[in-house]
Amino acid sequence: MRIRLLSLSLLSVILSCTSSPMDRRQMVLYSDADMARRGEETYRKMQSEIPATQNARETQYVQCVANYVIAALEPEHRDHLVWEVAVFDHEQANAFALPGGKIGVYNGLLNVATDQHQLAAVMAHEVGHELANHSNERASQSTLRNVGLVTAQVLGVSNTTLEALDLGTQLGLFLPFNRTQESEADAIGVLLMARAGFDPHQSITLWENMTANGGPRQPELLSTHPSPTTRMTELNRLMGPANTLRAAAIASGLNPDCIQ
Ligand SMILES: [Zn+2]
Repeated sequence: MRIRLLSLSLLSVILSCTSSPMDRRQMVLYSDADMARRGEETYRKMQSEIPATQNARETQYVQCVANYVIAALEPEHRDHLVWEVAVFDHEQANAFALPGGKIGVYNGLLNVATDQHQLAAVMAHEVGHELANHSNERASQSTLRNVGLVTAQVLGVSNTTLEALDLGTQLGLFLPFNRTQESEADAIGVLLMARAGFDPHQSITLWENMTANGGPRQPELLSTHPSPTTRMTELNRLMGPANTLRAAAIASGLNPDCIQ
């Protein structure tokens, strides 16, 4: 009964859902402070497990690009979070942003994102996930999914049905939803990098490089992403507004000069 009550109270939270920056209705259960705490815990754990790069130039370069991207954020995100950037010594072409403003870049990414514009495209995409509360959405979904499965068990639903339900949730619901999140992060990211003064066209080159480099072992960044064709079409559609933002940034004197 306690579990049923719990699901009912969670249901009432769903009814008070919020909207993503792209105006999509979202269901989030956790406060920003909760998420920032989780983000920081995960970040510190990663820092204790994965060695940082020993290459000072690499660190300065990544920090330089991050500084431009962070400076282009709205004040509520730029000033109210403690932004940090870590460069990990790891061959994978990957990067992430955790709630609370914690950015991580694996130095293997620098072989694929070959200049400051392409690196900015990845970072702005990752920051885009955070601006759109995607970690909170994922954590909330997984909490609700667990509560749902436990509730079904309590109600006596058979194990076979439960397994089917579990598989269906993973394959049928979560995957397409993640792709929606990826498209949102792409859109937020390309506009953000342009506002920071980087060349938005390089986001297209970057995703082409990623796909070409993926081969049988695709970078993790691509694992749940939209198909390359869909992604290029969507990015191309945003080039007009992105170019306008970049022109305004350059006119205001912003001209990123981070050299690897
Ligand atoms: Zn992504």
